[in-house]
Amino acid sequence: MTLRVHFWGTRGSIPSPGRETVRYGGNTPCLELRTPEGWLIVLDAGTGIRELGRSLIDRAHGAPIRGDIFLTHAHWDHIQGLPFFAPIFRPGNQFTIWGSKAMETSIGRVVRDLMSPVVFPIAFEQIAATVEFRELVEGHSMPGNYDVKVMQVQHPGGALAFRFASRGVAESRGASPVAAHNGRRHGLVYISDNELRPAAAYEFTATWRRDLVRFVHGARVLVHDAMFTTEEYADHQGWGHSTYEDAVELALEAEVETLVLFHHKPERTDDEVDRRTDECRTLAARHGGSLQVVAAAEGLTLAV
Ligand SMILES: [Zn+2]
Ligand SMILES: [Zn+2]
Repeated sequence: MTLRVHFWGTRGSIPSPGRETVRYGGNTPCLELRTPEGWLIVLDAGTGIRELGRSLIDRAHGAPIRGDIFLTHAHWDHIQGLPFFAPIFRPGNQFTIWGSKAMETSIGRVVRDLMSPVVFPIAFEQIAATVEFRELVEGHSMPGNYDVKVMQVQHPGGALAFRFASRGVAESRGASPVAAHNGRRHGLVYISDNELRPAAAYEFTATWRRDLVRFVHGARVLVHDAMFTTEEYADHQGWGHSTYEDAVELALEAEVETLVLFHHKPERTDDEVDRRTDECRTLAARHGGSLQVVAAAEGLTLAV
């Protein structure tokens, strides 16, 4: 009863194509998650969603495509691919776009504005698929036999963290997920944009940090923002992103099985991602645990 996650976009802030980013990829965030029954869940709609859309059409062989699209927040790099997601222009396809209640502007408004005549040639009204906008409410029962939990994280304007599990291994309330499953870690936690250190912009409290660790605890895979080096972070406090060390520290504290370094800085070359990933592995090994560290790459698939 495992989920499978596939990475279509791994880059933060702006697409960064070129020879030096070809291995980890230049597309902005988009993940495809599948339940054991094959239900489609899309995480964020950065430019990676364009290739996902082409692949879905290929795989569907003319059958309708249905699924849930979860948006962590409405910054450009997480929504800019949506108007290029070909399945929305085909009648018979059905998507629910889930956003946060906490967003200042409703997600439906944001997507319509993304396709307003001033900035895009095709109006939202010309979309042929059925697209519904929903605000995510804690405890909502999802149609595709999976569960999702949400938590607010530290990012300018707000952003959500998601935790997904297939319903066969639904977590009992209050119990440690690890303990509840005989020590086997499970589930995917996706936190694309999050500043783990206290910054003036947020009401950082010990409770938030503790709640976050609890939220992530025992996940098989944690995909987390690892945009900055410690040196770079010094000039970017309050920008809403974390360092490699911060991400490793959270993964260790929350006893996850695999940490996926995500939201690569646009300027980060493939070779540098390799070096930073090695440093994170050394840091994790120093703590003597069994934490695995990989860097998100377009084309990477993991069982969760
Ligand atoms: Zn972002
Ligand atoms: Zn953002």
